[in-house]
Amino acid sequence: MIYEILPVGPLQCNCSIIGDETTREAMVIDPGDDIEDILALISKHNLQVKQIVITHAHIDHVGGAMKLRAATGAPILLNQNDYALLKMLDAQAAWVGMEFPGKVEIDQSVAQADTVKAGSLVANVIHTPGHTEGSVCLYFPVQKKLIAGDTLFAGSIGRTDLPGGSFEKIIRSLHHKVLALPDETVVIPGHGPLTTIGEERESNPFLK
Ligand SMILES: [Zn+2]
Repeated sequence: MIYEILPVGPLQCNCSIIGDETTREAMVIDPGDDIEDILALISKHNLQVKQIVITHAHIDHVGGAMKLRAATGAPILLNQNDYALLKMLDAQAAWVGMEFPGKVEIDQSVAQADTVKAGSLVANVIHTPGHTEGSVCLYFPVQKKLIAGDTLFAGSIGRTDLPGGSFEKIIRSLHHKVLALPDETVVIPGHGPLTTIGEERESNPFLK
């Protein structure tokens, strides 16, 4: 498995590039910004991007998706419950002081129990509403890795005070779906350092 994590944009969203070493097929998760840097890593590893997966429709996660689609031809995937939020991308840009990247078009919705693939690498889509209504996490069961978007951070959880956010729902998603994963699962949050499910189960103040 080729795995690159690249913090992109002013809010340093963790963009993941995941590639199959044999077939060179890849998926990119959350290309929020800095698409030139993402493309440089893709060509360094000689990868072909097959899917662009967005964990949720916040600008720092989705802002560069159209540019990456134009460069790779890969479809953009997002849970349909975040389509409304995606329509507010210009307002979101104003909130965080970013430049409006232009309208983002989604090619396909991803929902609970769907899978996304890059060659032999397979991730299960886990719908985890709370940070936004359409937030998803991606779980690679063979590699025991979880791309958590802004649902779970090392020592914290996603904020729920933005439109579409719900504290009750994020807590339910975390307890019923995320904490159901094995302790040894490595968590790649949407921002900040990596952690594990065991570590968060043990010490995350929001999960006690
Ligand atoms: Zn977010």
